[in-house]
Amino acid sequence: MHPPLIDPFARPITYLRVSVTDRCDFRCVYCMAEHMQFLPKADLLTLEELDRLSTAFIGLGVRKLRITGGEPLVRRGIMGLLRQVSRHLGAGLDELTLTTNGSQLARHAAELADIGVRRVNVSLDTLDADKFAAITRWGRLPQVLEGIRAATDAGLRVKINAVALKGVNDSELIEIVQWCGDQGHDLTFIEVMPMGEMGEENRLDQYWPLSDLRARLAERYTLIDLAERTGGPARYVQLAQTGQKIGFITPLTHNFCESCNRVRVTCTGELFMCLGQEDNADLRAPLRASSDDAALRETIRAAIARKPKGHDFDYSRQAVAGQMTRHMSHTGG
Ligand code: SAM
Ligand code: SF4
Repeated sequence: MHPPLIDPFARPITYLRVSVTDRCDFRCVYCMAEHMQFLPKADLLTLEELDRLSTAFIGLGVRKLRITGGEPLVRRGIMGLLRQVSRHLGAGLDELTLTTNGSQLARHAAELADIGVRRVNVSLDTLDADKFAAITRWGRLPQVLEGIRAATDAGLRVKINAVALKGVNDSELIEIVQWCGDQGHDLTFIEVMPMGEMGEENRLDQYWPLSDLRARLAERYTLIDLAERTGGPARYVQLAQTGQKIGFITPLTHNFCESCNRVRVTCTGELFMCLGQEDNADLRAPLRASSDDAALRETIRAAIARKPKGHDFDYSRQAVAGQMTRHMSHTGG
């Protein structure tokens, strides 16, 4: 056993998100430009490298692993990787999860459950088919709803992640909440973050502060603040009338970095210690330099020693500050 990863602010790093591809079958307006330049395949970590890397982190105390992208289920061989990594479940790893747009879930849900995945996060911002097509540009709502149904049928718990978008899903707030309640899905709202160039889309036009969303919810439901923390940035309320739990990820209106326990690795092996900072460490070089993991572990440890306190996103003064040049699909949301 190696000593666990503890950052300079005494936060134990127990949660890793790994992006397995920068590609996607959707082009969500807040995430990608319509015509994206994707990375050359040779730059991507191979499935074997992704397994080695995940295994090294688990050896250093990571207990929760989330596979993301881009769209993780469009990476060829992804199910094989998940099966490989699942050998650590119950042997260091507590949870193996996935964030997906749901488009390929119908095909993979049963196998995911068989592998030992218990929960998936599905991104779904609207229940209106036309709006869905407009937000995702290339996505179709029925396909995603079918995927979500397949996941539920396979026994997976589904958490819906919805980005709060002014002029888009603000009119559907109660409907989305009720649908999740009826279907038994957890629900978390996310503020749109300044990640990457969007082309013609204006980020400030899309931004719907969750403080406002929360006030709108409070007109309809009694909100009970929950003390519950998952180590992540989400804060939860319970709706007294239905018992539903709703999460809020509010990087803009509130910054909850102090309890951050996570780091992210991109599909090319860059380790980002914070979603909202540029500093990163190249893990691909030590992975490719040697079949021994000692140098890889040392690189990880040195990077964790530089993990910053938090991000600098800010939309005040009607301008976007703290903007990241990389897209969310690159770092892995
Ligand atoms: N393709 C998968 C999906 O959509 O769930 C996984 C990757 S996606 C980058 C992960 C999450 O990031 C999604 O929930 C998406 O809504 C969110 N996301 C993307 N760009 C964002 C942005 N600029 N601000 C806030 N959330 C964003
Ligand atoms: Fe693809 Fe997910 Fe980004 Fe949408 S949010 S474009 S589904 S990676």
